[in-house]
Amino acid sequence: MDLSRTYQRRKLMLLTKLSVAVGLAGVALAANAVTYTPGTYTEKVNGHNAAFTVKVTVSKNKIEKIEYPDNLETIGVGKVALDKLSKKIIDRQSLGVDNVTGATITSFALKGAVKKALEQAKVSKADMAKLMKNSEKYTALPAEIKTNVVVVGGGGSGLASAIAAQQAGAKVIVLEKLGILGGSTNVSEGALNAADPQRQGKQGIEDSIQKHYEQTMKGGHNIGNPDLVHYLTDHALESVHWLESIGVKFKDEVGTATGALWQRSHYPATPSGNTYIRSFEKYIAAHGNDMKVYTDMDAVSLIQDKAGRVIGVVAKDNHTGKTTKFMADKGVILATGGFGANVALRQKVNTGVFKDYDLGKGIGCTNFNKSAQGSGIIMGEKVGAHVIGMSDIQVHPCGTPGTGLMEMVRTSGRNRLFINKEGNRFVNEGAPRDVLAKAIFAQPGSTYYVLVNHLRYPSLDWVDANGAKMKDMIDLGRVVSAPTLDELAKKLNMPAANLKKAVEDYNGVVAGTYKDPLGFVANNKADKQMTEGPWYACQKVPTVHHTMGGLEINTKAQVLDANGKVIPGLYAAGETTGGIHGSNRLGGNAIADIMTFGRDAGTHAAKGN
Ligand SMILES: Cc1cc2nc3c(=O)[nH]c(=O)nc-3n(C[C@H](O)[C@H](O)[C@H](O)COP(=O)(O)OP(=O)(O)OC[C@H]3O[C@@H](n4cnc5c(N)ncnc54)[C@H](O)[C@@H]3O)c2cc1C
Repeated sequence: MDLSRTYQRRKLMLLTKLSVAVGLAGVALAANAVTYTPGTYTEKVNGHNAAFTVKVTVSKNKIEKIEYPDNLETIGVGKVALDKLSKKIIDRQSLGVDNVTGATITSFALKGAVKKALEQAKVSKADMAKLMKNSEKYTALPAEIKTNVVVVGGGGSGLASAIAAQQAGAKVIVLEKLGILGGSTNVSEGALNAADPQRQGKQGIEDSIQKHYEQTMKGGHNIGNPDLVHYLTDHALESVHWLESIGVKFKDEVGTATGALWQRSHYPATPSGNTYIRSFEKYIAAHGNDMKVYTDMDAVSLIQDKAGRVIGVVAKDNHTGKTTKFMADKGVILATGGFGANVALRQKVNTGVFKDYDLGKGIGCTNFNKSAQGSGIIMGEKVGAHVIGMSDIQVHPCGTPGTGLMEMVRTSGRNRLFINKEGNRFVNEGAPRDVLAKAIFAQPGSTYYVLVNHLRYPSLDWVDANGAKMKDMIDLGRVVSAPTLDELAKKLNMPAANLKKAVEDYNGVVAGTYKDPLGFVANNKADKQMTEGPWYACQKVPTVHHTMGGLEINTKAQVLDANGKVIPGLYAAGETTGGIHGSNRLGGNAIADIMTFGRDAGTHAAKGN
């Protein structure tokens, strides 16, 4: 199912063209037929995450099959691009197809590998020229398209709000600048915090909405907006149930995201935040009469009427370069995510929790570069929206050296130690993220290893919450493994005595025989002593992750101006808003936020109130 560019006009044109094409098909195929030596040809190519094999099967005149069995591309991103592009190549029998915006490296890798495989199939130069000819044909959209609600951004908050608006009776259009849906939500671990008597009760975890509220406020250094935090914590469990109602399955047991401060993180039963996006896509496909999604559609500005009401969005089609006015008679929802990848903006505003650290180009970012530019915040400001909390940027402890992407062994969950290059623990691993990141910056080389053992990875082939296997991480050289701590210390070039003491101290805390001077408390049902190998160490660095600031909203997700007055017709949800997470977000609270305020924005926008 391809949700992208589902507009009727193009469908009609396509149908007309098809009916002509069917008649001419026999002639055209004969004239354009490319000749291959039949067989299956294999190429190895470097993808975004790792090298993978591409197998291309051809018959005499046709590319029959494209496979990429061992690829480790990102779920919901690279993997989607592989499926989309290989389908296009086969459907059109052409290599002249555009990359998937947002997955360019994977796209180039696949197309390059298929080309080389076809060369192995002895394609003539003339035939290769035919294959490489651009086969993309884009038709410009009408200058104006009308609907009830326009959602800017096809990530988690955008799709949740779009579905909620549809459920409240509205016709909805979603505009997404990338060629894939999902944004940061897609690559997130999907951890969603909610006090949940049913699940937590079974695990013997004591919790309450009030406790979630208090920890969210305190973790954010008590500068979050109490009304918004109450709305979040009061409605987070409803979001879990709402997601279940549209097909998301959660694990039976709750866990603990990094810096969540309590065991209330709900994880999807299948790997990663992409689980949400897949369910949303299915829902939208099943409600195509009410909902349209335009990918590769970059929103550039908001349209206001004379009275100041926001009545639409101007967006530019990445393919045709043409702009369309998407008019909304009920409301516009900004859901463009944060600005973590906008280096200039984050440097300009970095006067909060990380003011003493350089958040320039030298530090990586976990988010999509093209997405997390803060464009919704900028568009909102231009129509008078009040922007709050911009100075507080979250730095996460789980960055991959070199890129800052969040990959390989994750810091979320328990039974993992933070070990510096000297083999010592240096921080309470259960601390909030700002504390963790600042402690890492203070270590030699501003780096550390996250140390886990068989408790986290029961076997080399066990698939973790993000779809990764330990075997692959070791093969890629991203994880160092050893059967004993002595051997691991040797491989990591650190004093074995320190490493062993670090593990011993941690075990002492879990056993209740040691009071940790760093402050770690074994107050989580998942905490267990780590006594046996195999041991795994994965190097990490701090990385820019979440931006707590953004558009000021009220509990109806209406955007406010500097005087606290509602800007009529304008709503916002997700990371593009400010005021919910104070100056430090708890792990697992963003997914709770985007689903809760996403639903809120959609429901109110549909009613136009
Ligand atoms: C690696 C990683 C792991 C994470 N894990 C967790 C976790 O386990 N739990 C948790 O609570 N939080 C987690 N987070 C944070 C959380 O995922 C994000 O804060 C949240 O998903 C943001 O959702 P959103 O809808 O606001 O933005 P996004 O999901 O990023 O969606 C915004 C969308 O808007 C699009 N867009 C931007 N500008 C425009 C424009 N001008 N026109 C059209 N479209 C536009 C973007 O391309 C994007 O698709 C994680 C984040 C990352 C990066």
